[in-house]
Amino acid sequence: MGHRIKARKAQSAPAPHIDTDDAIVSSFLSDAAHVPGGFAAGVAFPHSEAEVASAVAQATRVLPIGAQSSLTGGATPRGELVLSTRALSNISSAAGDSVRVGAGVPLKELQRSLAAVGLYYPPVPTFDGAFVGGTIATNAAGAATFKHGSTRRWVNAATIVLANGDVVDVTRGGTVASDDGWFEIALTSGEVRRVPVPTYAMPDVPKLSAGYFAARGMDLIDLFIGAEGTLGVVVAATLNVVARPRRIAALVRCADDSQAVALTAALRREARSAWQGRGPLDVAAVEYMDTRALRAVPDEGFSRAGVVRPSGQSVMLLLQIEISGDDERALGQLQSVLTSVGIEDDPHLALPGDDRGAERLFNLRESVPSSVNAIVAAAKQAHPDVEKTAGDMVVPFDRLADSIDLYRSTLERHGLDYAIWGHVSDGNLHPNVVPRDFDDVRRGREAILEIAREVVAMGGAPLAEHGVGRSALKQQLLRELYGTEGIEQMRTVKRALDPEWKLAPGVLFVP
Ligand SMILES: Cc1cc2nc3c(=O)[nH]c(=O)nc-3n(C[C@H](O)[C@H](O)[C@H](O)COP(=O)(O)OP(=O)(O)OC[C@H]3O[C@@H](n4cnc5c(N)ncnc54)[C@H](O)[C@@H]3O)c2cc1C
Repeated sequence: MGHRIKARKAQSAPAPHIDTDDAIVSSFLSDAAHVPGGFAAGVAFPHSEAEVASAVAQATRVLPIGAQSSLTGGATPRGELVLSTRALSNISSAAGDSVRVGAGVPLKELQRSLAAVGLYYPPVPTFDGAFVGGTIATNAAGAATFKHGSTRRWVNAATIVLANGDVVDVTRGGTVASDDGWFEIALTSGEVRRVPVPTYAMPDVPKLSAGYFAARGMDLIDLFIGAEGTLGVVVAATLNVVARPRRIAALVRCADDSQAVALTAALRREARSAWQGRGPLDVAAVEYMDTRALRAVPDEGFSRAGVVRPSGQSVMLLLQIEISGDDERALGQLQSVLTSVGIEDDPHLALPGDDRGAERLFNLRESVPSSVNAIVAAAKQAHPDVEKTAGDMVVPFDRLADSIDLYRSTLERHGLDYAIWGHVSDGNLHPNVVPRDFDDVRRGREAILEIAREVVAMGGAPLAEHGVGRSALKQQLLRELYGTEGIEQMRTVKRALDPEWKLAPGVLFVP
């Protein structure tokens, strides 16, 4: 173990064909943020590490993409060669507790392949069509981050093509920063690049997708995880996996926010006891949907889930409970926790093996963002500048109630309609503006910025899991978090590894 890593050459291969046909290129000009105006020099579909290396070496500007599910415009090209990773689709047979996977494998495919041998990859974002490479590039997280952590914790090794076409095989534990805060990358040309570790302090929160990871004695692999494609192209990775858990999904109606916060706190305590072998209620995730978010869901969303639309100020929590022992013991304990916080309604349950039932409940949760996005899209028809305006805030859990008050009071003070949902067991919520016109979007951005400042003051972060991408607002939030000095330190890292600013230029920060 040292602070220097030696790059190698990829096998020699011709660069893959670059498609410039409008019919093909036009389907790669946008991501899930739906920012207009994407354009590209062409699209390439490399099938191997050698083809990726060759394409990157020959291009002047490259945007690696996965499933383009980015919510920050990070996968919307601005004139680069789009490097689609979808043909890097190999999954090696899982051995023991790890699996070697191509960057272009969608998580859904990975889970299917692992399920066939009783295994599971835990750190999945809500959108399971995302590719392995994209989730590494954004350090994706999700509902079950509460139990399992974000993607970072699960990546054991990665093969990365650097901006000059050299390849590094980075293994966790293989290369760590020097005592005085450097990495050295020895390129095949003989040149050695010194990469300084930034000195800003990252907030102590369970999930963070806010530019470059930085810590004393950090592992080199952590610099590439969450770098959003700006430091190298992930070609393949070795991921840790676990035995597939048996799972109960439970949808619970709470009378109001304070009951929901009390229940979540109680469930977190139960989960921690279970992890120490002292209880049966192994809660992996608690998802929150507020009154306004539920109001946005059309009636069919509830009827398909077999759930009655809740009335009044009710909010709903969707729990994922992992079962290693007796179902009845876990359910009995759940009932007593519900009673202890004053909840009398029975939860809607999907028991282990009832995959259809669980899917119905998860679909209800998913119809919250899709319903709000549909409202945004409808407003955009009348006002073309309207766009999704949302926060991705995480606070230390003991500030959760304060943070919900903050989101509501700030958005209301700005006269905005809004909805809030998210991964409440992590203290990670998404306050979303429900815009009527562009003026709402403009005021929404001001409100999100105000919220972000308060969240940082609470010891949290305004960039929990969706990354920064090319969104001007998110880039401003990154500056709020680390200051201009922090951004300058990130630029220094970028310049050391990619002096020509070739990879994902304009993602995270402007050149
Ligand atoms: C409905 C919905 C729900 C979502 N829920 C969540 C959630 O719960 N948690 C969460 O974290 N995110 C969530 N997201 C956001 C998104 O799914 C994640 O950011 C995901 O990790 C992006 O993966 P992707 O393959 O689509 O990457 P893309 O969107 O294609 O790319 C994202 C960024 O990664 C870079 N990149 C992609 N592939 C590579 C590669 N191989 N090497 C280097 N850089 C690369 C790109 O340049 C870009 O900057 C959600 C999105 C949607 C649409």
